[in-house]
Amino acid sequence: MADTIFGKIVRGEVPCNKVYEDDKVLAFLDINPLSEGHTLVVPKEPAETMDRLSDDSAAALGRVLPRLCRAVVAATGVREYNVLENNGSGAHQAVAHVHFHIIPKPNPRDGLGIGWPARSLGRDAADSLARRIASAIS
Ligand code: AMP
Repeated sequence: MADTIFGKIVRGEVPCNKVYEDDKVLAFLDINPLSEGHTLVVPKEPAETMDRLSDDSAAALGRVLPRLCRAVVAATGVREYNVLENNGSGAHQAVAHVHFHIIPKPNPRDGLGIGWPARSLGRDAADSLARRIASAIS
C-alpha cells in the first residue's frame, strides 16, 4: 500500500501528540478534532482497511481500545463518545491506514454527527444474507 501520514507518524518522521504506544499500536490526538479529546488509535501495521488487517494487530487494537476510551473519558470528563473506523473514501476514510477515532460527545453540537438512514430488514432476504456472510468468514 502507499505510504501515508500515519505511516510517517508511526515511524517518528512526523510529530504527533502521542497518548499511548506499545509494540503494535500508537494513539495520538487528531490534528483537527471534532471535540476536545478526539483521539486516533492506529495499528503500526500499515493496512489500508480493517478487512486487510492481521489478527495480531486487530487483537492488539481490541485489547487497548477500552483502556484508551476510559482515559479519554477521565481526561475530558465527558462520559459519552463515539468510536469510529472508516474504510474507503466513499465511507469517509481520508487516510488510507486503519485508524479508530475516539470522539467525545459533550453536547449535541460538538463531536460526531451521524446520518443513520435505517430501513427495515426483510425476513427472507435477511436469512439468505446472514448465510452468505457467515459462509464467507475465513
Ligand atoms: P478518516 O476520515 O477516518 O480517514 O480520518 C482521518 C483523520 O486523520 C482526520 O480526522 C484528520 O483530522 C486526521 N489527521 C490527518 N493528519 C493528521 C496528523 N498529521 N495528525 C493527527 N491527525 C491527523
